[in-house]
Amino acid sequence: MASFEEARQWIVDAVAPLGAVEEPLLDALGQVIAEPIVAPRDMPLCNNSAMDGYAVRSADCRQPAELRIVGFLPAGSSQRFAVEPGCAVKIMTGALIPDGCDAVARLEDAEETQGRVVIRRPVEAGEHVRFAGEDFRCGEVVLAAGTVLGPAETSILASCGRVSVSTFRGPRVAILSTGDELVEPGEPALPGKVVNSNGLALAAAVKACGALPLLLGIARDARDSHLEKMREGLQADVLITSAGVSAGARDLVRSVLAELGMKQVFQRVAMSPASPTCFGLVGAKPVFCLPGNPVAALIAFALLVRPALLKIMGHSHVLDTFVTATLQETVKKKPGKVQILRVTLTCRDGRYWAIRAGDQNTGILKTLLHADGLAILPMERTMVSSGDEVSVQVLRRTAAGSST
Ligand code: AMP
Ligand code: MG
Repeated sequence: MASFEEARQWIVDAVAPLGAVEEPLLDALGQVIAEPIVAPRDMPLCNNSAMDGYAVRSADCRQPAELRIVGFLPAGSSQRFAVEPGCAVKIMTGALIPDGCDAVARLEDAEETQGRVVIRRPVEAGEHVRFAGEDFRCGEVVLAAGTVLGPAETSILASCGRVSVSTFRGPRVAILSTGDELVEPGEPALPGKVVNSNGLALAAAVKACGALPLLLGIARDARDSHLEKMREGLQADVLITSAGVSAGARDLVRSVLAELGMKQVFQRVAMSPASPTCFGLVGAKPVFCLPGNPVAALIAFALLVRPALLKIMGHSHVLDTFVTATLQETVKKKPGKVQILRVTLTCRDGRYWAIRAGDQNTGILKTLLHADGLAILPMERTMVSSGDEVSVQVLRRTAAGSST
């Protein structure tokens, strides 16, 4: 049995980013760029005005100052003026600073009458001027490979004239549910039947981290059905199965995957819930066999599968994603396994506080609705006391924090 930390490390060590694809900027949001972005020009391109006002020679603005207006420069104009001493050009934000001027006096600090303007306060050289290249210089690396694309990065790319960017390809993740008891959502759920909620739940989890889910449906508890569906699943970049990995008489997942050449990295993890989680490789292809219990399946996904998918998508910080929170109640546990507690998080006095999100029974899916995070209670402990610090994997954006 792998320890929780070993399992996570072995999984992440076993996977690598896929190739890169060129994507339109908006489609690339949240993805990792695979190429360094070099500025093709200075930003801004030319000295321009940061305010609506008057382009002036600062030396002319010692008090009192009255200047003759020799022109008007709206934003976007390419007209050039040579401004002589004692003169000014009325200028709008973004317009090119005319030759001879070195500053802009704000409209609010000026009074214009009949072609002349009184500047009511001294103006320093460079005041209200955006200088060419002050944001970034031509040839500068403005975004390193490995950067995650958000709105600010999109702004930089757009201002470099880019409409698309090379990003690490999101893996196609095949999802296979197994079990004779399963019916698909929408089909009659007669007594003895269980709705295949894991298929869509895991697909949603895959999609939420930016990868592409492929739903394979249900493999029945028979070797041929497993073989057929698993062969199909191994066409994808990653295969995730649910159920059929415990010690049950009909638990065929691992034996059929072994027939298909899977080298098992670990069979179980010292964690609760989700201890019957197995990980292996068919060639270089990662295969995750998750427990059937819907709560355990989603917990295993969040803590074991997601870091791997993030690494495949080019992210660099995939294991160091925990925040520290103070537990607000005492929790008893059995030693020998890490216990995963579904918690709500609040942020107060500059700290995170964690409290049970509800009934921790693995049959209660509803508790996950209230859970902002998963607290990791250490393996060797038999009790974690109120006031103790715990590591928490944040599950979603809340007032308390952001998921990483
Ligand atoms: P197993 O690992 O096959 O023993 O399944 C463990 C439990 O999870 C059983 O109660 C199953 O009915 C349930 N289960 C298995 N697969 C799914 C699924 N795809 N969706 C929802 N529940 C499932
Ligand atoms: Mg089963």
